[in-house]
Amino acid sequence: MPPMSNAKVVLKSGRDKPVRQRHPRLFSGGIKAIVGRPKSGEVVEVHDNRDEWLARGVINEASQIAIRLLTWDQDEAIDAAFWARRVAQAVARRNADPLLRTTNARRIIFGESDGLPGVIADDYASHIVIEYSALVALNAREAIEAAIRTSCAPAQIHIRYDEERLKGEGVSAKLYSPSVASEAAATVIREGDLQFRVDLTRGQKTGFYLDQRQNRQRVAAYCAGARVLNTFSYTGGFAIYAAAAGAAEVINVDSSADALRLAGENAVLNGFGAGINENRQTLITHIQANVFDDLRVRREAGEAFDVVVLDPPKFAHNPSQIERAARAYKDLNRVGMHLVKPGGVLATFSCSGVVDAALFQKIIFSAAMEAGREVHIVEHLSQASDHPVLLTFPESEYLKGLICRVY
Ligand code: SAH
Repeated sequence: MPPMSNAKVVLKSGRDKPVRQRHPRLFSGGIKAIVGRPKSGEVVEVHDNRDEWLARGVINEASQIAIRLLTWDQDEAIDAAFWARRVAQAVARRNADPLLRTTNARRIIFGESDGLPGVIADDYASHIVIEYSALVALNAREAIEAAIRTSCAPAQIHIRYDEERLKGEGVSAKLYSPSVASEAAATVIREGDLQFRVDLTRGQKTGFYLDQRQNRQRVAAYCAGARVLNTFSYTGGFAIYAAAAGAAEVINVDSSADALRLAGENAVLNGFGAGINENRQTLITHIQANVFDDLRVRREAGEAFDVVVLDPPKFAHNPSQIERAARAYKDLNRVGMHLVKPGGVLATFSCSGVVDAALFQKIIFSAAMEAGREVHIVEHLSQASDHPVLLTFPESEYLKGLICRVY
C-alpha cells in the first residue's frame, strides 16, 4: 500500500512527544484533525502540528486507543511482509533466549512489546495458541498466522479472542470464526525435568502461566522440607516445582474445579500423585475454595506454613480500580503473613499492570504493619523473559513479585 494514499492524522501542538518517543498507543485526545476519511482498521499517517511526518499506524475510532502505531520508518509499508518481519523478529528473540532452552513452552508474541499490538501467541510444545485483542491484529490475522507457520512450523494453531478487549475495540468476536477448528485440545509441556498438562482451548489465559516460569524456580528454592500453602494455584505450577525441590507438603487452593483437576493430573504426571509418590515424599492436596475464606479458616485454626504463595488474579484492570485493588491486596497479604511461621517465606505477586512495583511494595508494607510482622524483602521478581518489557512501552511490565522473610 503506497504510503501517500493513506489518510493523515494531525496532532495537537505539544502532543507529539510520546509519538516521537515511540510509544505505540495514541489516544484520541491528542488528535487535532483527520484529513481524509479513514475507516476503522485502515492505515493512517501521523503528522505533528507543523505537518512533519512522525509515524504510521492503524486507526480505530471505536477504541479509546485511537491509533495503534506500527512504524516510525517512513519507508516501511504496512503489508504482509511487515507482519511477517515482525513475527520473525519475535520468534528469533525467543530462539536466542538462553533462559528458554530447557522448555518447549514459550510466549512467542507479546503484543506491543514485539511490535505487534493486539496479538499474543504462546507455543505449547508446537501447539500454538493465538489470542487476538485488537482490530489492528484481527485485520492482519492471515499474514500473522502465515508468518507463524513459516517461523515455527507448528503442529496445530488454535485461535482465541479476548472478547472483553475486542468489545472495547468495537468488534464482536462472534463475527470471527476460528480459522482452525478449536475443538477441545490439550497437550503436555516440559519445563526442565517437569511436565505440565495444558488445556489449550478452555484453560485460563492461553492455558498456562508462562509468565511465572522463572518465579516458580525462585520460590522452589525455599521449599526443601517445607510445608507450603500455594494459593490461587491454578494447575499447580508452583506446587510441582516446590514438590520437586523437596517440599514435605503442598496444599493447592483454587476456586476452579477444572484447574484443580489438572493440578491433580500434573501431580501424578511428575510422580507426586496421592499414594504413588514413587521414591519422592511430598504430599500434595487440592482444596477447592475461595482463597480469602480458606485463609481465614486456617488462621482461626492456628495453622502455620514455612512458605505461603499468593498469586491472585488481576485485581485492577484500569486506574479507576487501583484503590479497591490495593485494599484487596493488603487484606490478602495481611492474612497470608499471619499464616507464615516466624522466619518463613511469603512469595506474593500482583499481575495488575496499573499497580506498579513501588505501589505494590507500599501495599505489602501496610499489610506487614497491620499484621504486626517484621518483613524483609529478599528477592524482587518480575515476568519471564519471553514477556519482555519494551522500554518505549512501560505498560508492558505488569507482573511483580516479592519473596519476603516474615518474622
Ligand atoms: N499461580 C498460578 C496462576 C494463578 S492464576 C500458576 O502459577 O499457574 C489465578 C487463579 O486464581 C486462577 O486459577 C483462578 O481460578 C483462581 N481464583 C480467582 N479468584 C479466586 C478466589 N477468590 N479464590 C480461589 N481461587 C481464585
